[in-house]
Amino acid sequence: MPVSPSIFDALLRESYGEAAYKVSERLIDAGFDTWWVGGAVRDMLGDIMPKDIDVATAAHPEDIVRLFPEATIAEKALGSTRVRCGVYVFELTTFRKESAESIGRKPVTVQFGTREEDAERRDLTINALYAHPVARELYDPFEGEDDLREKLIRFIGDPAVRIKHDPLRMLRAIRMRAKIDGQYHPDTFAALHENASLSTKISGARLLNELEKLLLYPFAERGLEDLWELDILEQCLPELHRCKGIPQPADFHHEGDLWDHLLHCVSAFRPDDLLDVRFATLLHDIGKVETFALKERIRFDRHAEISAKLATDILKKLGAPARRREKIAWLISHHMMMEPLLHMNEERKTHWYHHPWFEDLQRLFWLDIAGTAPSDFALFDRIVEDRNIFLNNHPRPLRPLLTGEDVMALTGLRPSARIGEILEKISEAQEKGIITTKHEAQQFVQSWEESR
Ligand code: ATP
Ligand code: MG
Repeated sequence: MPVSPSIFDALLRESYGEAAYKVSERLIDAGFDTWWVGGAVRDMLGDIMPKDIDVATAAHPEDIVRLFPEATIAEKALGSTRVRCGVYVFELTTFRKESAESIGRKPVTVQFGTREEDAERRDLTINALYAHPVARELYDPFEGEDDLREKLIRFIGDPAVRIKHDPLRMLRAIRMRAKIDGQYHPDTFAALHENASLSTKISGARLLNELEKLLLYPFAERGLEDLWELDILEQCLPELHRCKGIPQPADFHHEGDLWDHLLHCVSAFRPDDLLDVRFATLLHDIGKVETFALKERIRFDRHAEISAKLATDILKKLGAPARRREKIAWLISHHMMMEPLLHMNEERKTHWYHHPWFEDLQRLFWLDIAGTAPSDFALFDRIVEDRNIFLNNHPRPLRPLLTGEDVMALTGLRPSARIGEILEKISEAQEKGIITTKHEAQQFVQSWEESR
């Protein structure tokens, strides 16, 4: 079965597709069976232009290095080699088979194998789709194309065995269903549920990586719901699992309990919401579990602060970098700030409205309201207006693009009044919007110096 010629043609007209083709063609011309595999082929079958082409080949890393002298062996033991073509870097993976040593998180060695064996060790039928870039043939040993048509998530082989070999595959299956808005094959669903406890074996780094990808998908809430229902969340992220069944003030939250609220917020993500904002949204209220109290109405005093602390602990456990933890915790701990903002004096407002993360905080305010039924944006709109007026009257100072040292290094000048003059010119050009990046500023200085 050939892949649609139009998508192939369109892809090869793009520089990325052309580069992938060139790399593959060189391997094929040298006699090595070479195919595009996985997500890229899935995309092409759905008439979507692939953004990330994984290449699987019979060539061993040393063959690849011989054919592409500039190639680097990415992970020698895993048979993965990186090849650069123009500005693009491709990961070429040598066909391999699943072996006893390849079980679990970080296999130490791999056994190379045939294309058939390579297909057998892949996780899902829709991920064992191979397209030949030159012959434009499809190699589909597990009827992945039929499954794709029904959006069916189905493990290759015995699901329980495949999960035991690598429990990460459970998260991959759940993520893939969220990605294609799909459904599970009954055997796959049953195996996911039965083996949920194995998810504790997944390393923090791999869990974080899966969560990051999931949160960026348009149907992320699907994946989160599945994680809950399959009893996997309980094992991996108990702090989130506990949110189900926590009641909220009935008058303000018609959407349901705390877990429902979080899912509604996640489903309100817009495509350009940053990953940090998405994480903050998912975790912004987890402190409500322990702060729940029935007073004149249901109250969650200090929940923002406690949620931020819990989020920090979770992100630490997952090995998230300190900068990311710090920003997410900052966003969460200030997500109840809307009301106080309006009553601040100018000096305090300067701190908040000029803060480099304020716009992300504003997104969190918005998402929190969007995930609440009924959604009342009146206060949010007032904040946006107030900030706009404030910024008109007190423009945010621009961050200097270059320092005095940068200018000296660029021009070879010694410390002098001249450096100050140049910095002044850069700042003028920045204010006028003529230059906006460090690189542009460097070019600006060079051409200005040359023209003198
Ligand atoms: P995406 O669109 O997210 O990139 P993908 O299918 O390309 O989807 P990758 O994570 O890039 O996913 O992996 C590439 C391919 O490698 C997958 O399609 C799958 O065939 C295989 N694969 C990755 N991880 C595993 C695993 N843990 N077990 C089995 N096969 C895997
Ligand atoms: Mg991929």
